[in-house]
Amino acid sequence: MNNDVNATWPKLPVALKKIAIDPTSDDYELMCSNYFVTGRPKLILRATTERDVIASIQYVKKIRENVSHSIPFSFRSGGHGISMASVNDGGIILDISQLNSVTVTDAEQGLVQVQAGAVWGDVAEALRPFNLIISSGDFGDTGVGGLATGGGIGLLVRRLGLTIDHIVSARLVTADGEIRVTDHQKYPDLFWGIRGGNSQLGMVTAFTFKASKLVEEKSDISLPFTVQTIESQTSNLTKFIQQWQSWITHASSKMSSNLMLTAENRNTVHINASNFWAGSINSDAKALFKSALSLSEVNKHQLETKSYAELVKAPHIPHSGQQPVFVKNILLDAMNPNIGDIISKILVSPGIIGIEMRAIDGPLNTINADETAWHDRKAKVFLAMWLQKDTAPHAKELFGPLQDLGTGVYSSYSSDLSIEESQRIWPEETGRKLRKLITKYDPQHLFNQGHYW
Ligand SMILES: Cc1cc2nc3c(=O)[nH]c(=O)nc-3n(C[C@H](O)[C@H](O)[C@H](O)COP(=O)(O)OP(=O)(O)OC[C@H]3O[C@@H](n4cnc5c(N)ncnc54)[C@H](O)[C@@H]3O)c2cc1C
Repeated sequence: MNNDVNATWPKLPVALKKIAIDPTSDDYELMCSNYFVTGRPKLILRATTERDVIASIQYVKKIRENVSHSIPFSFRSGGHGISMASVNDGGIILDISQLNSVTVTDAEQGLVQVQAGAVWGDVAEALRPFNLIISSGDFGDTGVGGLATGGGIGLLVRRLGLTIDHIVSARLVTADGEIRVTDHQKYPDLFWGIRGGNSQLGMVTAFTFKASKLVEEKSDISLPFTVQTIESQTSNLTKFIQQWQSWITHASSKMSSNLMLTAENRNTVHINASNFWAGSINSDAKALFKSALSLSEVNKHQLETKSYAELVKAPHIPHSGQQPVFVKNILLDAMNPNIGDIISKILVSPGIIGIEMRAIDGPLNTINADETAWHDRKAKVFLAMWLQKDTAPHAKELFGPLQDLGTGVYSSYSSDLSIEESQRIWPEETGRKLRKLITKYDPQHLFNQGHYW
């Protein structure tokens, strides 16, 4: 690292020299991207201890105070943030991917301490010998830090609810450089805010989760999942969506269902469905899989059983901004009868990659809206539009008719960093509470990257 690069910034503390990477460092090109974009930060701090996180935050505070409050400051855990805010140009990135240990502290109670830089595939692998599971995202390289502060819609969302609903406590470095252990008793206001409020209150270094024990007596696979994949098509999307929602709503909570919809023309919509049964195949699962095949014109289908850890195995693919996309989403409490027509129209627009839908009804709906900073606790369906990045300027207009139907927005699945989007994510009392907390714990707005109030 060349110490002159940041000549106008306060001198880098000795303690940070060993973890600092700048544009002259060998590792710079490897470290300046996330999954979606490549940034040009002036400085990357690759923390290896919680002490490094504290020292980094103190140093960034000094830079902001002495140089400019507009210098960007990003957190990066897994680098899969759809907000794309974990890298920046001209600022600092605090990367905690080396803080990635997973420790089962009480196997009987299912208590697991996970450092926020771990990725979910590695968490699943570490929990496999204990027959424990934390319902998280469906892709193994997704990071713990971003997902577990945003929400966490996993393959067991209909059985176990959101990932944030399994957090027992969290270690958080706040803007004053203090480490705060938060739970229902200690700093309950911060504990409320980090479950759904993203990174606005500080950087979480570790979570304690209460994992769930799922054991099947007759299976030789630890935590088996039976997965049905269906490639099909429909000429009546509204009817299909209604029937799909009725099918999944009446299905056992052991079943989850994700859809990806695409189209070349307005007459036919292609459906890639993945239906996940938490367990080995049995008569209940067989009946449900059979009825799933009657919802559309099936071209191809397949059933396979895998362990949960295999299903979400982390490929650890290095980041180079390889997915130039833009994503908008809504949460839906009820299904509008026009939704199929609206989606069919969007699907043939330029730049559209597809529309994803997931059933999320169940335990998510049993938590009161004021218990966490995830606002919409009535949501039954999650819907996301994936666009090529170069068409992002049209995203608002394109998504408008769907946006109007939404009752909420999931922060971790939105690339729209406008203030209007933050208002949709954290409306009403949730927003007011978050703003008060920011004023209390981060009055100088150090953590103003990403979705922010
Ligand atoms: C391929 C893919 C599949 C996905 N699948 C799912 C899914 O199934 N379910 C689901 O719910 N989501 C899913 N997501 C969305 C994902 O959960 C979020 O985008 C999440 O923010 C990624 O976390 P990360 O740590 O990898 O991201 P990063 O890019 O490292 O961080 C994203 C943002 O999170 C915040 N953040 C990161 N670390 C911390 C921390 N330690 N403390 C406080 N704030 C922090 C920061 O604001 C940061 O800008 C998926 C994303 C991708 C790209």
